[in-house]
Amino acid sequence: MFGSVIKDYFAKSIGKSPSEIFSVSIMPCTAKKAECEIPTMQRDGVKDVDCVLTTREAVRLIRSFGIDINRTEETDFDSLMADYTGAGVIFGATGGVMEAALRSAYYLVNGKNPDADAFKAIRTGAEGNTVVGEAPWRELSFELAGKKLTVAVASSLGNARKICQAILDGSVKYDFVEIMACPGGCAGGGGQVILGDDVERAQERGKKLYNLDKGMKERFSHENPAVLKLYKDDYGAPLGHKSEEFLHTDHYAWNL
Ligand code: SF4
Repeated sequence: MFGSVIKDYFAKSIGKSPSEIFSVSIMPCTAKKAECEIPTMQRDGVKDVDCVLTTREAVRLIRSFGIDINRTEETDFDSLMADYTGAGVIFGATGGVMEAALRSAYYLVNGKNPDADAFKAIRTGAEGNTVVGEAPWRELSFELAGKKLTVAVASSLGNARKICQAILDGSVKYDFVEIMACPGGCAGGGGQVILGDDVERAQERGKKLYNLDKGMKERFSHENPAVLKLYKDDYGAPLGHKSEEFLHTDHYAWNL
């Protein structure tokens, strides 16, 4: 989505054509290297994302220039699309996409925000909850505008298979399921930094993401000022024609 917006909205804002921009995504995910080559992720022969570096590669690159990241000064992101919310930050942890979506779903149904932590029981490692690898999936039931909903979260492909099987054989029924392919979500992604001590850090990284979210002023996706501006300036409304064209993809057309 970001790649697509950079080649369109951002390009226009600086008076460039999409082909004059080279966009690089730094991701915890090796699969994104293949994803950016998919024909439906291009427009008129110009790729949305030209190159993907994993976080592991990015760290190696920084080190290869002799840069000590701990001694560099923090700066703000470049505008136009510099704003981010806590809801976006937690996308990197298993359950985070679900939690961010529920925060906004609550707002869309009730017209007011919930407590930002109202759905934290779905988190891995939340109080009394399971940790990565302990149970095939986690579930949460709650009421939304008088309707009882039950949602579930699974990470790793083995657990994805188990929950799909349980849904198919009718032993469970959910209104919304989040699946992340890597154990612990992107925090445990295949492109993440390996420190050489064989310790799995997905859980620890996930907790850091939730701590970052907790400390942020903006914690709701629907309040991200940059996204609101994007819709106001150019994309109209969510699920509108332009947003559908630039922010959605057709997974059935993916031939992997
Ligand atoms: S969960 Fe794994 S495969 Fe899925 S986007 Fe994150 S890093 Fe990539």
